[in-house]
Amino acid sequence: MLDSNRPRNAVTHASHGFITRDGITPSEFRRIAYEEVLRYPFVEHFPTEVAALNRIESGFEVLDSSGLRLPARKVILATGVKEVFPEIEGFYPLYGKSLLNCPYCDGWELQDQPLVLVSESPSVFHTAKLLLNWSKDLVVCTNGKAPLTEEQIDRLHTLGIAVMEQPVAAFVGQDGQLDHVRFADGTQVPRAGGFVMPQFVQSTPIGEQLGCARTESGGIQTDQRGRTSIPGLYAAGDASRFSPSQVVFAAADGSRIAMSVNLDLTEEDYG
Ligand SMILES: Cc1cc2nc3c(=O)[nH]c(=O)nc-3n(C[C@H](O)[C@H](O)[C@H](O)COP(=O)(O)OP(=O)(O)OC[C@H]3O[C@@H](n4cnc5c(N)ncnc54)[C@H](O)[C@@H]3O)c2cc1C
Repeated sequence: MLDSNRPRNAVTHASHGFITRDGITPSEFRRIAYEEVLRYPFVEHFPTEVAALNRIESGFEVLDSSGLRLPARKVILATGVKEVFPEIEGFYPLYGKSLLNCPYCDGWELQDQPLVLVSESPSVFHTAKLLLNWSKDLVVCTNGKAPLTEEQIDRLHTLGIAVMEQPVAAFVGQDGQLDHVRFADGTQVPRAGGFVMPQFVQSTPIGEQLGCARTESGGIQTDQRGRTSIPGLYAAGDASRFSPSQVVFAAADGSRIAMSVNLDLTEEDYG
């Protein structure tokens, strides 16, 4: 296991939705995971950033920047994704605390509060309706873009949701707690929290460098058994499936695809 230990959820205070671990900090979750996995003497952990993956006759050679070179017959890419957010002042100090990006992860914690949803994507219509399940006090901001049709805006108004299409200038708050949203035209809207929808991009170019086929949304394309378009290379977790993007799905992928690797090795070795 080669891991640079920069998981996407590191900014959040509590992780939800993983049965038996509700509310755990991401760092504690990882600590337990490593403790369990490293009990098995054949597992080796290299806390390092993989710089390149080269194809060689026996499979792959994994390289990091310090000169480490490891041969591998099979490789699973579980490298996750990076989020690209709209550039809005004051966002990062509030991110993971009162501003989040996954209603299924943190909707319950923000229930019944005055919420903001910032999204420039056409999926904003669906996300706004979804959020009504947790709070009826919702302001939707499209940040200067126009992803909503007139019909959709009318529908959101009927549902009691305000729609603000002007650019968002800043999130204003303190100690992680959002106080209000300030717009470029000077309007201020008091809000206690909300969701800002990012675009996802691969966190490492390794898959792209090897020529892996991609899904329409940019995930590494795999078959049912996690096999990418490159023989011997598998992908698991967020890197292969941008949605649903949750720890429990990533863990399930890890288990499923490890079995798949084992099956393929067994076939190769024993026919
Ligand atoms: C603010 C926030 C809150 C969230 N809350 C929840 C929640 O409550 N519940 C939930 O289920 N999900 C939550 N998520 C989503 C969850 O974090 C992801 O779905 C999950 O972490 C995906 O797991 P993964 O293993 O695919 O990727 P990650 O957890 O991102 O792990 C990828 C790993 O690969 C490593 N890596 C990447 N490139 C390299 C390289 N070149 N060399 C070596 N290592 C590399 C990284 O350092 C990292 O350790 C949240 C996400 C965010 C951003």
